[in-house]
Amino acid sequence: MILNSKKEWVLPPYKIKAIEPIYTLCREERLKAIQHSHYNTFLLSSSDVTMDLLTDSGTSAMSDYQWAGLMMGDEAYAGSCNFDHLEEAVRDVFGYHYIVPTHQGRGAEHILSKILIHPGDIIPGNMYFTTTKLHQELAGGTFSDVIIDEAHDSLSEHPFKGNVDLQKCEALVQKVTAKKIPYVNLQACVNMAGGQPFSLENLRALREFTHRHRIKIILDATRVVENAHFIKVREKGYESWPIVSLVREICSLTDGCFMSAKKDALVNIGGFLAMNDEAFFTEAKALVVIYEGLHTYGGLAGRDLEAMARGLYEATCDDRFVAHRIQQVEEFGRKLMQRDIPIVKPIGGHAIFIDAKRFSPHLSQDLFPAQALAAEIYIESGIRTMERGIVSSGRDSKTGKNIYPKLELVRLTIPRRVYTQEHFEYATHVIHEVYLRRREIKGLQMTFEPKQLRFFQAHFQPIPCC
Ligand SMILES: *Cc1c(COP(=O)(O)O)cnc(C)c1O
Repeated sequence: MILNSKKEWVLPPYKIKAIEPIYTLCREERLKAIQHSHYNTFLLSSSDVTMDLLTDSGTSAMSDYQWAGLMMGDEAYAGSCNFDHLEEAVRDVFGYHYIVPTHQGRGAEHILSKILIHPGDIIPGNMYFTTTKLHQELAGGTFSDVIIDEAHDSLSEHPFKGNVDLQKCEALVQKVTAKKIPYVNLQACVNMAGGQPFSLENLRALREFTHRHRIKIILDATRVVENAHFIKVREKGYESWPIVSLVREICSLTDGCFMSAKKDALVNIGGFLAMNDEAFFTEAKALVVIYEGLHTYGGLAGRDLEAMARGLYEATCDDRFVAHRIQQVEEFGRKLMQRDIPIVKPIGGHAIFIDAKRFSPHLSQDLFPAQALAAEIYIESGIRTMERGIVSSGRDSKTGKNIYPKLELVRLTIPRRVYTQEHFEYATHVIHEVYLRRREIKGLQMTFEPKQLRFFQAHFQPIPCC
């Protein structure tokens, strides 16, 4: 039973038309599967997974209207009508004038970073995101964290933990000068902080600050719909605003955006870069043909562009979709809290984050407690989760030393419109079972480490006696 804060029923605003079977391995088979996958949940076969909470990226269930759009794919190499539909959707929903499609979010990050960042530049952001930061570094820039301190504290109940700390921005400008700062990278519903939103009040203050210093704001719009929902329910004065108006208001306070459409735009693949500045657009078009494809398809089929256009409208023009999604995530988190499972609060938009430092205090961060817990949850239940801690943080690009993030988390990411309440009841039960025997969880050692984005492909093995 899901009730919102006004104690009203929140029903799924959809019913199921097509289903996909789930298979379940027995415990011994799961143990073999995780050993074979070197204790890295990214290396498991999805056919060995009972409930897949690895990511909400590209895992949404599309609507019948989106599927119908796939049949309307205009697969012309140039000037596909589906591109026109996408351009219209981005103009309507986001309000930016120009759009360059890319195969997914990182394709847009690549082009954006190459155009706006010069070697030696500093890019402030409200916490890092893995691929975003890497593209900034590959372009010769350095990321600087300007999120408020509360975001790094898993116990803080601040309603807008995604807010930017303007004093940190001011100090950065004093230190490196505004000339070295091409833009502030503003992420909606900050992923690594636990899906935490920024407020419109904070964005307005940031806009004023950046205007004063002639610095751009580039929005990471990947989860802007979820951020808009949190503004609607948590920030005074916006209760009656439609989601689409809030999304437009956010975008109007920025200079452009990039988006992984695999999240809030409800599609399995796709992304784009959007802006109002014509010179920026011209440069982006020049690069997209090199790295992605012609500027009217950007590495996607016409049918994918159509599904994305329809997904953008669907996600923003029927407020019930995002409201139900967030309530589903919140209800799952509440159930876990009732069983004393330590999770990041307040519960964020797209996922529940278990605090592995508090779940397994017997493991030091060198023993990869979140990675170990993700493996243990899989062995117990067949549920696939992922690490967001020391493995994901990687190494300092200058010193080569491990970065020790304050947050050592296991992410249980909820795909949109995919699982039902029964699945979450199962997940709550089995995670509690792991919690009861938490002291048995062994630490891991890394036996293979990729140079970049190591969490995707690293190998681990249990340390027998710790
Ligand atoms: C997923 C994601 C990206 C990158 O997008 P991809 O489609 O995975 O390449 C960028 N920023 C955020 C916040 C994301 O969650």
